[in-house]
Amino acid sequence: MYDPKSMKAEEFIDHQEILGSLAYADAHKSDAAVIDAILEKARRRKGLSHRDASVLLACELEDKNQEIYALAEQIKKDFYGNRIVLFAPLYLSNYCVNGCLYCPYHAKNRHIARKKLTQDEIRAEVIALQDMGHKRLALEAGEDPVNNPLEYILESIQTVYSIKHKNGAIRRVNVNIAATTVENYRKLKEAGIGTYILFQETYHKESYQRLHPTGPKSNYAYHTEAHDRAMQGGIDDVGLGVLFGLELYRYEFAGLLMHAEHLEAAFGVGPHTISVPRVCPADDIDPNAFDNGISDDIFAKIVACIRIAVPYTGMIISTRESQKVRERVLHLGISQISGGSRTSVGGYVEEEKPEENSAQFDVSDHRTLDEIVRWLMEMDYVPSFCTACYREGRTGDRFMALCKSQQIQNCCLPNALMTLKEYLEDYASPETRAVGERVIAANIPDVTNPRARDTLVQRLEKITQGERDFRF
Ligand code: SF4
Ligand code: SF4
Repeated sequence: MYDPKSMKAEEFIDHQEILGSLAYADAHKSDAAVIDAILEKARRRKGLSHRDASVLLACELEDKNQEIYALAEQIKKDFYGNRIVLFAPLYLSNYCVNGCLYCPYHAKNRHIARKKLTQDEIRAEVIALQDMGHKRLALEAGEDPVNNPLEYILESIQTVYSIKHKNGAIRRVNVNIAATTVENYRKLKEAGIGTYILFQETYHKESYQRLHPTGPKSNYAYHTEAHDRAMQGGIDDVGLGVLFGLELYRYEFAGLLMHAEHLEAAFGVGPHTISVPRVCPADDIDPNAFDNGISDDIFAKIVACIRIAVPYTGMIISTRESQKVRERVLHLGISQISGGSRTSVGGYVEEEKPEENSAQFDVSDHRTLDEIVRWLMEMDYVPSFCTACYREGRTGDRFMALCKSQQIQNCCLPNALMTLKEYLEDYASPETRAVGERVIAANIPDVTNPRARDTLVQRLEKITQGERDFRF
């Protein structure tokens, strides 16, 4: 029985409700009157139900599809302006006891190099990341109670936050580790993590069980209810995601939105972020083995429809995607991207030899962070290294309230410009710096509050003189 408030996975991700929504979407995919009514609702900027959003995703009317894209773009501008937040993943360990069929870290892969960073190696990785200019990391580790127990993760978080190399600092550590207990989530919260990210991979229970034949992750309910336990443990920013390509994308899309609705119904706070990875090549993994792969066109439509359905939820895209695909979807709703990423354990310090490959997936976008920053600015985006909300205690419902009322915008742009300025001073190439100074000057007038604008100008000057870490 479908119940978004239920704490049981099979009830808030109800299979029949998803099938009913897909049937409804099929019945109305060419029904202009229904689609117009949904678009009208969406223009109120309050989001859409999974059922309405599924109709937009299925829509086959070309003119309505153009309206969908235009609305997604407008909502993106209204909520996120032209800012794109940057982050990098940091792989701590690829030891894993699970049997996920789509991931090269699965326990039966005997030829992948297994590595786990020592605290000294983490220090070296973090210094390399700080020297690139990163301020926000996502820690990644496989599930292995012996090699990667929670104590190891907690110690690693402490190490990451403790390193201050030159003007560098990691100011927000997000964590992407296996589903765990409320007590462990409480410990992660106490360690000062930002978002707890856990991808569902697939919401389709049968497929989930087939794709996760062994290991603790094979428990669908325990995995699907993990965000609830994280919330109960006091982590109020949680991130969702599915791995598109494993199951029918329309099924996943509806499940993802139902999960967001569940968090809202049960805790009063929707997901902080949604990630949209697609199955991609990796050691021992052939993406063609998964026959639900999606085209770039469908991928763009998914991004647009998520943007419309949950306007206040950040959307993340990684370097799994090429420059071309990233360019195509940035304006449709993406608010965060990774840059200069290495997806292997220890990859920031040392380029791996091919025979020692420990990467989780092959990166498509190989550019340096400097190149990514310049590329964004050349497309009129403002790259942001902002981490202010988490550090100002603006998390969970406090953050969402500011987000939904769009008041957060008063902080985002000045913070983006100040953190960009820090980046230009400390890390940028001369060419990027020149472009960046122009971008900052061009964006200052868009800070509409005169007092905030004056403060911003003063702080930018102070950053030039060597001061760091201002925030609104
Ligand atoms: S997806 Fe995660 S849990 Fe599964 S094999 Fe890879 S690292 Fe392990
Ligand atoms: S002010 Fe908050 S919402 Fe805006 S970019 Fe910074 S951390 Fe994100």
